Amino acid sequence: MTNHSWIDDQLRYRGISDERVLAAMARVPRELFVPDDLRGLAYEDAALPLAHGQTVSQPFVVAFICQGLALEGDERVLDVGTGSGYQAAVLAELAREVHSIERIPELADRAKVSLAAAGYERVNVHIGDGWLGLPEYAPYDGIAVAAAAEQMPPALLGQVRVGRRIALPLGRRHQQLCVLERTVEGARLLVSIPVRFVPLVAGTKESPE
Ligand code: SAH
Repeated sequence: MTNHSWIDDQLRYRGISDERVLAAMARVPRELFVPDDLRGLAYEDAALPLAHGQTVSQPFVVAFICQGLALEGDERVLDVGTGSGYQAAVLAELAREVHSIERIPELADRAKVSLAAAGYERVNVHIGDGWLGLPEYAPYDGIAVAAAAEQMPPALLGQVRVGRRIALPLGRRHQQLCVLERTVEGARLLVSIPVRFVPLVAGTKESPE
């Protein structure tokens, strides 16, 4: 048994086989991204509550998304729904340039503090509506979305480089986390699993919803 037996139990035995992803999951200090009073639960096999009714994604789900994006280290990626910043930190272990966008300014600010504390100040946190993606830095070699849309947001798909991938939960009550490859014609589904994410809400917090 290693120090990171949770990595085996929660990830490897469930089909996460990309060694770079497993190493990244072992390196990122998840306790720095969960609320102080829940630190003791940081490595549990669960999503954890954040402020504003949002959640820090379950480790397995973060690893599944990262494995789905098939990153090799030199990519520019977009993370939609910064939340705690945890997913963005794992992406920072796997890719060269990480942009993360969050609609709730207080969460974005808190995530910046956590990312800096964990040594990931090079993650660029933006406040804005991730439904629209982040066209300034497009195209991306991968997009990870942490909030569920009923359909693929067209702007997001348009910001993935052809031949690269987007991982996003689709659906309302019954959601599937889908990994899709952008093709010239549209997108091709590679793999999906059932999940439960908070909804992708259009607009930033200040704008009328
Ligand atoms: N990746 C996060 C998960 C956060 S939960 C983590 O690892 O902690 C999903 C986040 O998506 C929430 O913080 C929510 O505010 C945000 N969100 C929802 N709709 C959004 C939108 N349209 N644009 C940007 N962020 C959005």
